[in-house]
Amino acid sequence: MHQFRCFNQIEIQVVNQSVELAEELVSDHYKLSTSQLLRLNYDVKTLQELSSDEIVADHFAQIVRYAAKKRGALLDTSVKDFYKVCLQDHAIVSALNQNSQLNLMAFVLYIVSHELIHIIRFRNFLQHFDASVNERLAEEIRVHAKTHEVLSGITLEGLNPVLSFYENWRSPPHDIMNS
Ligand SMILES: [Zn+2]
Repeated sequence: MHQFRCFNQIEIQVVNQSVELAEELVSDHYKLSTSQLLRLNYDVKTLQELSSDEIVADHFAQIVRYAAKKRGALLDTSVKDFYKVCLQDHAIVSALNQNSQLNLMAFVLYIVSHELIHIIRFRNFLQHFDASVNERLAEEIRVHAKTHEVLSGITLEGLNPVLSFYENWRSPPHDIMNS
């Protein structure tokens, strides 16, 4: 077992609400039906449900792609990949402790909305998962702008400080890796 701080039960409830709201807002924005949302084939997990190689110290989340390759299949595309959004509880809690204006609900809403937008863009072939470093940075800027657009239309306590927090964000908030 790793030594990182996991969300407690109360925090998990808040995170679950954030994830639901993020799914609702992002799928409304992209006009996705429930079945289209399901076909994105992802899941959001907190630290308790991560394996040691899905945990990173310095990002709030990372997306791990699990390629469901069929043995002997002729085409890579025959089986859809699965995306696991790995929330890094310890990094999120640490940021909240350092920024008294941030609250868990709004902060996780931003993080999960951002990751969902990445996944939609991978699924729509707007961005390759295995892009170069420069392409990834350009994509980060686009996805942050899109996240801002999706969230700026709603009223939620603590959201404005989160949007300000990301205005000044210089390094990517997460990592993307193949497993
Ligand atoms: Zn990103």
